[in-house]
Amino acid sequence: MNTDRSVESPHFPQVGHDHARCQSWILQRAEVRCRQEGMRFIPQRREVLEILATSHRSLGAYDILERMQARARRPPPAAVYRSLEFLLGLGLIHRMAGRNTYFACTRSDHDQQIQFWICRHCGMVGETESPVVAGEWQRLSDSLGFRVSSVNVEIEGECITCRNP
Ligand SMILES: [Zn+2]
Ligand SMILES: [Zn+2]
Repeated sequence: MNTDRSVESPHFPQVGHDHARCQSWILQRAEVRCRQEGMRFIPQRREVLEILATSHRSLGAYDILERMQARARRPPPAAVYRSLEFLLGLGLIHRMAGRNTYFACTRSDHDQQIQFWICRHCGMVGETESPVVAGEWQRLSDSLGFRVSSVNVEIEGECITCRNP
């Protein structure tokens, strides 16, 4: 399997796309990444990723906990946070800082700053990597003499599907 390529070519999830393909891509990439990093993809980490991979929507830690409970035994919240930290560390999921939610990344490895597009109706999240946007942060921070440690670009609005019901 080629994990260098993202599963979706459009940057925003399209209605009626073959989501089973996204799910298997997300999980296979996680396995490959864990192997590369010499990390163990233990069942709890896998389960958290599986839950996030069920859609392109973002979920809060509590939602994830509820879904884990529906599947089996409710894990301690700290265990869910540890799994989320693990998945974040490997770049397999992203955190929406503004909402404090998480979603499974379906793009190839990001080497640029990401812009997140969040639909406030359906909750779908798209990802872009505009070098122009990233360059502008750089230009502005240089002009301020500001050293940036992190940037979160979260654009909220209505996706094309929700705009055309
Ligand atoms: Zn999908
Ligand atoms: Zn939408």
